This record gives sequence, C-alpha cells and structure tokens, in this order.
Amino acid sequence: MIPVMEHFYTLQGEGRWAGTPAYFIRLAGCDVGCVWCDVKESWTVADDQWVPIADMVALAKASGTQRVVITGGEPAMYDLGPLTDALHAAGLLCHIETSGAHPHSGTFDWITFSPKKFKPALPEWYGLAHELKVIVYVAQDLAWAQLEAEKCDPAVTSFYLQPEWTRRDRVHQVIEYIKAHPEWKLSLQTHKYVDIP
Ligand code: SF4
Repeated sequence: MIPVMEHFYTLQGEGRWAGTPAYFIRLAGCDVGCVWCDVKESWTVADDQWVPIADMVALAKASGTQRVVITGGEPAMYDLGPLTDALHAAGLLCHIETSGAHPHSGTFDWITFSPKKFKPALPEWYGLAHELKVIVYVAQDLAWAQLEAEKCDPAVTSFYLQPEWTRRDRVHQVIEYIKAHPEWKLSLQTHKYVDIP
C-alpha cells in the first residue's frame, strides 16, 4: 500500500525532462514545510488515500506512458522499493522528485534532487542525484543554490534554477545570474504556463 494524493498522465513541466510525457504519482505526506509550497494539501495523509501498489502500477501502465514520476509531498518519507520494483517489472522507467530530507529507497532511472532551506537534505542525496533543482523565491536563494551545488558529487552534471511560480516576474534576475554562472540552466514550470496538471 502507498498513500496517493493524486495521479495523472501529463507532460513533465520542469528540469531536464520538460516536455516529456510521464505518469505522475503524487504521494501524500510532507514534513518539509516550504513557505511557498503550492501543494500544501499534500502535507497530510488521509486514511482513504492508501491504495494498493498493484493498482497504481496498472493505472500507469494503462495510460500508455513509458515513465513514471514519483513526487509529493515528500515521497522519500516512504520505503519506495516495492513501488519502483513493481513499476520496473511492468516495464516502466522511474523518476523521483525529492527534497532529500528523508533516506533514499527504491531504484530510480532519474533523480531530481531539490533541497529546501526549511529541512536540510541528507548527505546521501548529493551523490545520488542526476539533477539538482533549486527553487528561487528570494534573491538570497541564488547564493544558497551555489552552496548546495558545491556539495554535489562531480557526477551530478545538471544544475537548474527555477523561479518560484509566484515570483516568475523576477525571472530576469535568475537569467542574469545564469549568464554569470553558466554551470546553471533555467527551469520553468512550463505546465503552469500551458495550464496542464
Ligand atoms: Fe511542498 Fe515539496 Fe516543500 Fe513539501 S517539499 S513543503 S510538498 S514544496
């Protein structure tokens, strides 16, 4: 069983895989507490949100997707081994989007590591990530992002700065920073611009 807040087939909107179709499984539960969180309804878990893993895998498979993004909430609060094993057994690729505030579990084809100031990430994620994605809410977040990038294993080669949606009018500040620090790339929440889940 796994607690699911919502699930849907859409396009990944952010980061390296933006524009790629993916089935999203948003797990319920988060203890990170980002002040700007746009899915605060994901912070709690209701009894009726627990669903059999086999049912979620069947729904993802039936959608026709090739890949599944496990997000939250904070999905790493749970042992994700049974879910990723079942998804892989069904022939699906597994991505995760995590703050890294809880231990790693499961097997992933892509790890989006998005550490948050509000609850420190565990050291293991700096060596596991495929991409580092830092949300920029205030200008000071740019310097904080740089410190987070310096903690990453050299194998991490994708670094994204993503303006927080309500601050998207300040994107040019992020663009100027990236021009001066070209190891970073810009990530936008493209799904919000085109109004898809
Ligand atoms: Fe919201 Fe994600 Fe932060 Fe949790 S980690 S509070 S779900 S933005």
